[in-house]
This record gives sequence, C-alpha cells and structure tokens, in this order.
Amino acid sequence: MSNFELSVVVPCFNEEAVLEEFARRMALACAAVTDHYEIVFVDDGSSDATWSMIESLADRDPRVVGIQLFRNHGHQLAASAGLSLARGERVLLIDADLQDPPELLPLMAKRMDEGFDVVYGRRIARAGETAFKRATASLFYRLLNKLSSVPIPEDTGDFRLMSRPVVDILNDMPERHRFIRGMVSWIGGRQAAFPYSRDARFAGTTKYPLRKMVSLAIDALTSFSTKPLRVAVWLGLVSSLFAFAILVYAVTEWALGNAVPGWASSVVAISFFSGTQLFVMGVFGEYLGRVVQEVKRRPLFTIGQIRRDEMAGETAGSIQSLQKAVDAYTDAEKRTKLR
Ligand code: UDP
Ligand code: MG
Repeated sequence: MSNFELSVVVPCFNEEAVLEEFARRMALACAAVTDHYEIVFVDDGSSDATWSMIESLADRDPRVVGIQLFRNHGHQLAASAGLSLARGERVLLIDADLQDPPELLPLMAKRMDEGFDVVYGRRIARAGETAFKRATASLFYRLLNKLSSVPIPEDTGDFRLMSRPVVDILNDMPERHRFIRGMVSWIGGRQAAFPYSRDARFAGTTKYPLRKMVSLAIDALTSFSTKPLRVAVWLGLVSSLFAFAILVYAVTEWALGNAVPGWASSVVAISFFSGTQLFVMGVFGEYLGRVVQEVKRRPLFTIGQIRRDEMAGETAGSIQSLQKAVDAYTDAEKRTKLR
C-alpha cells in the first residue's frame, strides 16, 4: 500500500522564475497537513532551467518527484502525466506560478474531511487578470453550460484537491483532448466549492496565450457536447425556408413577365448558402479531426525521465498509454486494494 497521504501535482512550463519560491511555500503547506507527502513536478518540455531546478529540488528533498516530458504537451496533458504517477491518497493539482496560494491546502483538506471527494477552488477575485480574460471566460462558461449536460462550475480552474478514487477514475478516462475540470465534474461524487481570491502571478509571464485558451475552449465544447453538430440541422431548415421564398419570388416574377431576374438576389442566395455550408462543414471537421486523433490511440504524453527517490534518474522511454504508465509505476499492492 502506498504510504503517501498526499501528492501535489504541479505542471511546469518555463517556470524557472517561480519554482524555488513555490517549492518553499508548498512544502510548508504540505507539512501542515501530513509528513507523508510528495510533490510531483512535471516539466512540460521547458526550454529554460526548469528541469535542472526540479532536479536540484529533488536532490535536496526526497519528497520531491520530477517527471520530464520529452516535449511540450500542454498544461492539461502535463497535469495528466503527473496525476497518473501520483501515489497519494489525496491529490492536489496546482499551478506553479503561485496564483493559487499553496497555503489554502490545509483548509481544503479540512473541507475534504467533512466527506467530500473533490474540493475545487472557486475564484472570487482575481488579481492581475485583464477584463478581457474575465469577460471571455464568463461568456465561455455560460455557453458551455448551455450546451453540456454536465454542469461545469464557472470561475474555476484546475486548482483542486481530489480523493484517490476520483484520481483513479480520471486516469482511466482515455480521451486525448482533456478538459480536466469538466472531466472531474463528469465523475460526480460529493464536490465542494472552495472560494478563494486568486493572486497575480509571482513571476514570469502567462503560458496561456489567447491561442491556447481558444483551443482549450474548443476542446471543452467538443468533448462535453455534440449539440453544435445539430446546428447543421437548424441551419439547413432555415436555409430551406429561405430557398423556398426565393423560389416563390422567382416563379412570380417569371409569371408576371419580368423576364430578367435580379442579379442581387442570386448573389445573396449563393453567398448565403455557401457560407452556411462552409460553417457547418467546419463544425463537422472539428469533431471529425478529434475522432481521427482519438482513433490513433497514441500515448497522451511522452515521458523522458522520472526522478523519484527509489528510481532516481531512471529512463522510462516513450510510455505507450496512460494505463501503461500507471501499470508500470504505481505499486501493485495499492492497485489491488483499489479494485
Ligand atoms: N503550463 C504547462 N504547459 C503549458 C502551459 C502552461 O505545464 O504548455 C503550466 C504553467 O507552467 C503553469 C500552469 O500550467 O504552472 C498554468 O499556466 P499559466 O499560469 O501560464 O496560465 P494562466 O494562469 O495565465 O491562465
Ligand atoms: Mg497562472
């Protein structure tokens, strides 16, 4: 059986400026909860000194685990890599940039003691975030909740404390386009919101430019709803009505002897229909592309190295699948207990 009561999973992408301070504050917060903890840093293909800093943290403290991915896989997959290797009975997922204060951990753990499976951070104030980011985020969650049958709470990120059964189920969900906060909502169980005010980044710059945010939003929409596919049906109906009106108009004009029909109406009709068709094809394409990627069943992430006390510096090679990663590195006894 694992003797870790707590794992902290920290995805890091070019976070050299914050790591030392994060590790210091996180270790203090963990120590307030238990002595049996590990902090799992996942280096998501950083190009700065992030990995060497993780290594030196691991040299100094055996409770630090380092996972180096071969390349940048993005926040959600880096987090998934960490979750698949975390051994604790409870797992905290937290960003490295100190926007989510590590000091909240003891309070979240207390909340979990009341019988919750998930305690998720809910932002009541956010320092250092632009009005644009806040407005688009709010719009996005409203749209997502309209489309999805799983309610996904607004103003949350991935900052959350999860119980072992929840983490196991999450690890068993094989999808590649991962929207972790939505997947955790889907799992269910007793979930509690934990209101907190989000700090500004301690140092460094955001690793989530608009492009990545849009792509996360599309991942969320496509993996939690197929309703956009139905848009085709409605648009088809509307354009059929439109086409019928044009038909009536054309026939009347012809019957009245106004032989040369208007150029404008043809242009309007052609551009309207081709626009709708391209839009609908685009929506189909988004889903189809994702089906292709899922069908390939490539590993979700590629692990280069794992730095962990009992297997320091061991080279893992390319891990074939999330399940294999779990099989290879989680101890067998714990797995049988959880069955
Ligand atoms: N991150 C990552 N891989 C990426 C982008 C980000 O592991 O490709 C990590 C990053 O190091 C941080 C967390 O994900 O710990 C959240 O990123 P960030 O703070 O830049 O996003 P924001 O808070 O600005 O939305
Ligand atoms: Mg941040």
